[in-house]
Amino acid sequence: MLEARDITVNYGTRLAVSGVSLKLEPHRVIAIIGPNGAGKSTVLRALNGGLNPSSGEILLDGQPLVSYSRRAIAKRIAVVAQEGDLRFPVTVFEFVLGGRYAWASTAGWGWETPRDVEIAREVVGETQLEDLSGRLMNELSGGERQRAVLARALATEAGVLLLDEPTANLDLAHQATILALVRKRCDARGTSALVVTHDINLAAEFSNHVVLMKDGKGVAFGKPDEVLTPDLLREVFAVTVLVDAHPVSGVPRITPVHEALR
Ligand code: ADP
Ligand code: MG
Repeated sequence: MLEARDITVNYGTRLAVSGVSLKLEPHRVIAIIGPNGAGKSTVLRALNGGLNPSSGEILLDGQPLVSYSRRAIAKRIAVVAQEGDLRFPVTVFEFVLGGRYAWASTAGWGWETPRDVEIAREVVGETQLEDLSGRLMNELSGGERQRAVLARALATEAGVLLLDEPTANLDLAHQATILALVRKRCDARGTSALVVTHDINLAAEFSNHVVLMKDGKGVAFGKPDEVLTPDLLREVFAVTVLVDAHPVSGVPRITPVHEALR
């Protein structure tokens, strides 16, 4: 379990996040929603140990995150970064298999065990990357590469997934399949996931809880139907929205009302 307690994060003198608390519990998907520059990616970087909070603390399984080695963190937390624009000339399969590296007992060539290869194969299947598995990462479209990055994160079998706009470049079908995979992983294995997304409707569909962020602060936290309300969305995004129930799933459905077009 990963928990941020009242964290404040600065870049030099710029305050990016202040007083944010959240708890990633097993089987739970939390979505972070908020405007550009709200501090969403900064929260993720801090939760992964990539940035140290200037106050507050981050606990991983009850111990301060700073007490873990990089490798120990890599076994427990998998990250799909927003700027994960990986253009290495390795095949998709090699790249996904690389997600197993934190578990290797030997360094260098031939570190992978048959079990590592099996896990990588399973994940390539789950993410529907079979047809691309022999292709080079630097010769894929943005959306294809993004699916490979998610597959690598799943291959780690980490208990915590931190995903920064994982569906940003994906077509309609793959947006839903990626989040369905994250949902399934959390349901089946007790994984916890934190997903930054601009797709409020996907968040309503796939998350247990939503954090609304604005200007570095957590404005609201709760179940999608508690947080995705016209009042809170106006406060955070300065837009008017209609909220009704999705005709199939019944979760909140958010429709922006663009005054300028009326
Ligand atoms: P979001 O992911 O919500 O769009 P970020 O967490 O990336 O927002 O950024 C939060 C704030 O921190 C913004 O004001 C941004 O300009 C600033 N910021 C982000 N990264 C850096 C950086 N490397 N150096 C300085 N300021 C940064
Ligand atoms: Mg961001």
